[in-house]
Amino acid sequence: MASYVYDFDEPAEGGRDLLGGKGIGLAEMTQLGVPVPAGFTITTDACRAYMELGDFPPGLAEEVDEHLARLERTTGKRFGDPKDPLLVSVRSGAAISMPGMMDTILNVGLGDEAAAGGERFVLDSYRRLIQMYGETVDHIDPHRFSDALDEDDLPKTIDAFKRIYKEETGRDFPQDAKEQLGRAVRAVFESWNTPRAQRYRRHHDIPDDLGTAVNVVQMVFGNKGERSGTGVAFTRDPSTGEAGLYGEFLADAQGEDVVAGIRTPEKIEAMRERLPEAFEQFVETIRRLEEHYRDMQDIEFTVEDGKLYLLQTRSAKRTAAAALKAAVDMVDEGLITREEAVARIDPAQLDQLLHPRIDPDASYDVAAKGLNASPGAASGQIVFDADTAEQRGKDGDAVILVRWETTPDDIHGMIAAQGILTAHGGMTSHAAVVARGMGKPCVAGCEALSVDVDAKTAALNGTKLGEGDVITIDGGTGEVIIGEVALIPPEINEDFETVLGWADDLRRMKVRANADTPEDAAKAREFGAQGIGLCRTEHMFMAEDRLPVVREMIMAGDEDERRAALDKLLPHQQSDFEGIFEAMAGLPVTIRLLDPPLHEFLPSLEEARDDRMRSRIRALQEANPMLGTRGCRLGLQWPEIYEMQVRAIIRAAAAVRDRTGDAPLVEIMHPLVGFQEELRRLRELTIATAEEEADVEYLVGTMIELPRACIRADEIAEEADFFSFGTNDLTQTALGFSRDDAEGKFLTYYLQDGVLERNPFETLDQSGVGDLMAIAVERGRETKPDIKLGICGEHGGEPMSVRFCHTLGLDYVSCSPYRVPLARLAAAQAALAESGVEAVSVGG
Ligand code: ADP
Ligand code: MG
Ligand code: MG
Repeated sequence: MASYVYDFDEPAEGGRDLLGGKGIGLAEMTQLGVPVPAGFTITTDACRAYMELGDFPPGLAEEVDEHLARLERTTGKRFGDPKDPLLVSVRSGAAISMPGMMDTILNVGLGDEAAAGGERFVLDSYRRLIQMYGETVDHIDPHRFSDALDEDDLPKTIDAFKRIYKEETGRDFPQDAKEQLGRAVRAVFESWNTPRAQRYRRHHDIPDDLGTAVNVVQMVFGNKGERSGTGVAFTRDPSTGEAGLYGEFLADAQGEDVVAGIRTPEKIEAMRERLPEAFEQFVETIRRLEEHYRDMQDIEFTVEDGKLYLLQTRSAKRTAAAALKAAVDMVDEGLITREEAVARIDPAQLDQLLHPRIDPDASYDVAAKGLNASPGAASGQIVFDADTAEQRGKDGDAVILVRWETTPDDIHGMIAAQGILTAHGGMTSHAAVVARGMGKPCVAGCEALSVDVDAKTAALNGTKLGEGDVITIDGGTGEVIIGEVALIPPEINEDFETVLGWADDLRRMKVRANADTPEDAAKAREFGAQGIGLCRTEHMFMAEDRLPVVREMIMAGDEDERRAALDKLLPHQQSDFEGIFEAMAGLPVTIRLLDPPLHEFLPSLEEARDDRMRSRIRALQEANPMLGTRGCRLGLQWPEIYEMQVRAIIRAAAAVRDRTGDAPLVEIMHPLVGFQEELRRLRELTIATAEEEADVEYLVGTMIELPRACIRADEIAEEADFFSFGTNDLTQTALGFSRDDAEGKFLTYYLQDGVLERNPFETLDQSGVGDLMAIAVERGRETKPDIKLGICGEHGGEPMSVRFCHTLGLDYVSCSPYRVPLARLAAAQAALAESGVEAVSVGG
């Protein structure tokens, strides 16, 4: 029978999935000879079995006993010994790191007799045990303990804590060490399913059925006096990626004090002065760990009486900027390859770099400064609690969550807020770590801030603030400003360019942008777009000076009237296209002909001037516009509209070619085609019109956005030089979901209740819509092996969907300009995955 428990020095097959991140780290460190306290890991298998049975699975208790006995032999101490007993910590640790979400209990095994008359650190350890055990195992309100804590009188504190324990549970604090251990292990198993852990998993897309491992670790004491201490360190700066030790140290303390932000720690350099030998050894050890893991590490350690112990190592969570800098540096240092560097950047996290910053030209007064805990700037109204943040966030308000410090229970408010400001805690406090993971601006440890949660007021360097007052925070500098400040979009730095350059060398798919204006086209090009995959022409009709003419066109009684209006529109369209062609010189531009909700251009019935207008408006009203006179259906009924557009495109292309000598690569795209005959007629119209104009090269193709078009792609391909998957409409039509009637309504329910795992409008529904695409690709290529294939729906910028498009064999993805960098990286990772280099992300 497979084992449920492994010692740290015992090989286990199941790796991280079985032992959890903390467990595998402790085992690997032990096997590397790094100083780690002895202990063992109870596997995630055991946790899953526990959750199923609601009890320890058969054999588990016995196995724990065996390993405990072995631990007693290794340490030379006895568990439950009334004199100098073996003490352990009972620590959660899932396969995917969920910082602070689950529970850990320290000093398990201590009781009255062993503590009585003990040294200060023993008493301190005992009161911590009662507190953590009470909170975690018996769910006692933490305030009950913190209110009764008196650090100067520990015997009194212990009495008070035991009294509280008895009041709350009706029982005495358990004195039996094995009972403590058994209940602690159960409590850690159960902490997998707390609401906050569930919320965290949902937000980070972590499956609910992984379970947590439990690590039982011999206690080492950082609270033994001046030659002891505890800390957290990174091998590189997690905010910037800058090489060099970076961290925090607390003398005479146990680890949880740093993590929980209860005492504000010193910089790690303080340790060099206090404990020079341990410091030296520490620096050397973590260098070895970075080399072993070939990645930036986040390390917990404790020094007991001058002796160093490492308690945890993991790949450090880092900002996008730090991820890029560290990756570039590690390639330079020869630690990793370019492929690995590319595989390690989380495409979604790059978004962080595209976050706004404070406009350098803006003038403003800094009201206070805190720690620059997570970069990006945000303005918003102050809220003081997570529930309000969530509520106001849902209402669409920009809010900044202002807290003394955050706890894991604030997670939903942090998700909803634009930014987070705390008065207390360091760079590794909860707020800082979680905000960095989410890519949210955060200023932590702002000492000039005081918060009165009950009164819903705060004071910032003396200025009173209430709920709803606007502040701006800059998580890159730590500045806090009262009022709103102008923000600007960020730019791409050198590391960003370097990594994306490597990605470009690795990817097979091209990346284009969806852009309707010369400005967007220029932005897209700056971000590395290799053309425009979708230029919509609707907005060109919306411009204020054109709307009256567009209305004339729509209201026209006959073709002549309509043509007269179109003649007036043509020069406008032509100059629009010229601007875009010039911005994209030398690169392909796909222009989609008008795909209108025509009624959007019309005045309302009340605004109508006369009966003729009213009847025209009525005639154009549709019961279900999404399935009405859209796309090519309009172009076929009123060919003169598409004729005008084709003319404008060809004239613009010729003009740009003559002016710049660079002929644009024009792709004319017909929307919403479902039948071959539709495209046959439109192609004829396109060619006939173009021939009347100028000798310009162009392609004629179609959007694929109807299930019928996918299924009859072989026939449609006869008339098309290219297909572009319009996956927004394809998702609507394949699922029968109208997006506007789904999101925020039944789809929200579906996602909450688990009917669907993901929003199909954000992440491509690979098994349904994806299958239709696969059919279209296969049948289209049967007819025309070299037909050009791309995607221009919003999915074209979503990493998982980009990967899928690579697998389908598409030639390019097209997405909004700001997502172009992300798509470049995702496309490279898709190509790498094909050659066996899997993307690993430690970003957030
Ligand atoms: P988390 O997952 O919240 O980081 P940990 O299990 O790492 O929880 O433990 C919380 C704190 O207690 C950490 O600072 C850790 O270093 C400390 N700690 C855990 N086990 C021990 C031990 N055996 N001896 C000393 N400190 C410990
Ligand atoms: Mg914990
Ligand atoms: Mg930890």
